[in-house]
Amino acid sequence: MTTHHLRPLSPPHRSFWLQDAGARAATPPLGSDITTDVAIVGGGYLGLWTALRLRAAAPQLKITVLEADICGGGASGRNGGQVHSWWAEIDLLTRLVGPEAESLARATCDAIDELEALQTSGQIDMDLRLGGWLWTASSRAQEGAWDGALKGGAPIRPLDAAQIRARTGTDSSYLGVIEDRAGSVHPAKLALGLRALALQRGITVHEATPVSRIEGGAPCQLIAPGGRVRAEKVVLATNAWSAAIRELHPYLYVVDSQIIATEPMADLGLKGASVCDAQAHVLYWQQTPGGRLIFGRGSGRISLGDHLGPGFNRNAGGVAANLEELARVYPGAPPMTHDWTGPIDCTAQHLPIFGRLSTDPNIFYGIGFNGTGIAQTPVGAHILTSLVLGRPDHWARSGLVGLKGRSRLPPEPIRYLGARIVRAAISRRNAAEIVNQTPGALVRYLSTLTPGG
Ligand SMILES: Cc1cc2nc3c(=O)[nH]c(=O)nc-3n(C[C@H](O)[C@H](O)[C@H](O)COP(=O)(O)OP(=O)(O)OC[C@H]3O[C@@H](n4cnc5c(N)ncnc54)[C@H](O)[C@@H]3O)c2cc1C
Repeated sequence: MTTHHLRPLSPPHRSFWLQDAGARAATPPLGSDITTDVAIVGGGYLGLWTALRLRAAAPQLKITVLEADICGGGASGRNGGQVHSWWAEIDLLTRLVGPEAESLARATCDAIDELEALQTSGQIDMDLRLGGWLWTASSRAQEGAWDGALKGGAPIRPLDAAQIRARTGTDSSYLGVIEDRAGSVHPAKLALGLRALALQRGITVHEATPVSRIEGGAPCQLIAPGGRVRAEKVVLATNAWSAAIRELHPYLYVVDSQIIATEPMADLGLKGASVCDAQAHVLYWQQTPGGRLIFGRGSGRISLGDHLGPGFNRNAGGVAANLEELARVYPGAPPMTHDWTGPIDCTAQHLPIFGRLSTDPNIFYGIGFNGTGIAQTPVGAHILTSLVLGRPDHWARSGLVGLKGRSRLPPEPIRYLGARIVRAAISRRNAAEIVNQTPGALVRYLSTLTPGG
């Protein structure tokens, strides 16, 4: 039996989405000692989808979600709202799990259908608009970023410069592909909607309940300020904060992504589509139904160890890079009104890992969505549900389960220092490539030294 420590969260900074949805706690903090069958730590998409899938599969179980902040306060309420399947990563998936890759990609398409059904049935109003997901190039180095997906049979089709212009209202990208059954969503409305559904279905949720320690065993004990939870099974759905778990730390590194929102502007013609420009510092945007441009950029800033400081909630100094790109893509864009950041849980193979801790087989985890989670966490929740219930089905046998075959990252501080050097090289390479220049040989070499190559 091992004791696992989790770190306290930094003070929150609310994204445009969370402010727009009027997000606040809807459930009381844990106020006494309780007993439950399954305790889920983390009330983001993964924790809430897992709670809902467990409820559907085993209605007799008592399920309790413990959330340090408010549900959706983490990445789930702060993301870019780009909804797309795993077909874009079919080459990475195939390399890792072989022929199962296609069924995992199809499962994310099913998850998009499920989101649509939740909206059309009136269960969750999440501004889901399946206007397509555009994956584009705005310089020579980005051309063909999607070739691996095309070769893997992804349901994407090419777009030329005129089609991209008509769909985005800018000619900054001139080549690309579109996944038609994809689009955009209001991420915070989705997270809060999942919370409401969980409550309707008899799942107990305690917000403002940071779990500081988990003692493994049978049962496990979770310690939070308001009480102790005895649970037969525990699911860690703590995203980047799972880096504090000793067994997981060697496989998980955390970077941030920075988003800005502008004042409402004229319709760009996106019609609910979202756009991802294939730069090394990935650039992504959508326009809300109210006309705001949501414009995000991966900064590649890495955390030191498991310490996610306040800069992972907001980094005012990082806004300049987004504004510079905004001026390039939409020179006439109105002023920015909101800015925020969020942590991205990354693995060397850029795909998640699910499993149970080797020291404590009653503690399960799902980590490493690598910045793509809206249609992927519902699939992860299927896998976690089968693992928790001990079902010997295809979900539990998925190649995404287990640490075997997954690359370990260097230990700290080598990891942090190395990542800073690589990040500086990537930034320089990106700046050169965006204007069709070739960076120097050293920058080119260093920029390839990312985990997983
Ligand atoms: C800036 C940004 C942009 C992104 N853009 C997209 C996008 O456009 N499309 C897409 O598909 N994906 C995107 N993603 C990824 C997507 O948001 C995530 O993969 C997804 O939200 C992960 O869900 P989660 O439940 O694992 O994590 P989270 O939503 O982060 O949930 C984890 C929860 O655990 C809680 N927690 C942590 N520690 C404790 C503790 N000790 N006790 C109790 N609770 C705790 C946190 O408060 C948090 O609410 C983006 C992510 C970021 C950060």
